[in-house]
Amino acid sequence: MRILITGGAGFIGSHLCDHLLDRGHEVICMDNLITGDVRNIAHIHDPRFAFIQYDVTNFIYVEGPVDAVLHFASPASPEDYLKYPIATLKVGALGTHKALGLAKARGARFLLASTSEVYGDPLVHPQPEGYWGNVNPVGVRGVYDEAKRFAEALTMAYHRYHGVNTKVARIFNTFGPRMRRDDGRAVPNFVNQALRGEDLTVYGDGSQTRSFGYISDLVDGLYRLLNSDLNDPVNIGNPQEMTVLEIAEEIMKLTGSKSRIVFRPLPEDDPKVRQPDISRARELLGWEPKVPVREALAMTIRWFQEGKDGGAAR
Ligand code: UDP
Repeated sequence: MRILITGGAGFIGSHLCDHLLDRGHEVICMDNLITGDVRNIAHIHDPRFAFIQYDVTNFIYVEGPVDAVLHFASPASPEDYLKYPIATLKVGALGTHKALGLAKARGARFLLASTSEVYGDPLVHPQPEGYWGNVNPVGVRGVYDEAKRFAEALTMAYHRYHGVNTKVARIFNTFGPRMRRDDGRAVPNFVNQALRGEDLTVYGDGSQTRSFGYISDLVDGLYRLLNSDLNDPVNIGNPQEMTVLEIAEEIMKLTGSKSRIVFRPLPEDDPKVRQPDISRARELLGWEPKVPVREALAMTIRWFQEGKDGGAAR
């Protein structure tokens, strides 16, 4: 297939580029680089790969055939979408519209990178795809949550009204190499604080939970979904739930750090719990995560330790 990935120079997008090239596909990677980075794709020297710096909230023109459009462009860490609230809303709304329009025009299949944030601060636990969520539309996180909820609605409308073969992946917390050390999320923050001997900043009392998955498992799930005949949303995440304090302690252990854990105010609307119900992915995609969290953390720590991210905050 000839595949367009928007947000292809980001954390997940760049791993998808690698995965698709490995499976013999041709990849066009588009990114405006506000949170993505060309260093994530600098290792790719392949005639089947092209990078175009472009903001996909504008009309997207691609020469030649397109068999699939993977829409991954968006700031995705809470700190990033607080910093770029309008860009986040625009790429979720206008960007999704342009990406769907391209898929429709070329008869391409379409995959939306959606998120567990569509469930907001969930009142149902764990979260099955049938749960409609508990989102504060006017809260600070609303710019991301509502953009993704709109993107899902638009995707389903293109499927129902235009017959586009669409897929919606609801991605839960994922980590691994190529995360920015300054992206503000729990795992890169804790790992880099631990490696520098700084205090680990746990927000709130650390009793809020997340279910952290590793990037290779996520990409495998996304690829299975792309090749499936499913059109309804599918949760892709690791159901192994941990408190934020537990993940901080695990990182302290694995790094052998002498840092201390300190408590900082909980950000507004920070969800209290999060765990995917992955029955649908298990039954219909034959997918479940394989990499244990400890092993995944060890690989991520090693990557940061070796300075593979360039060593400095960007
Ligand atoms: N968090 C924390 N310390 C940090 C960064 C994040 O305690 O330095 C908490 C954050 O408040 C949330 C959880 O870790 O409860 C996961 O945050 P992240 O930003 O990774 O993603 P989210 O799941 O909130 O989108």
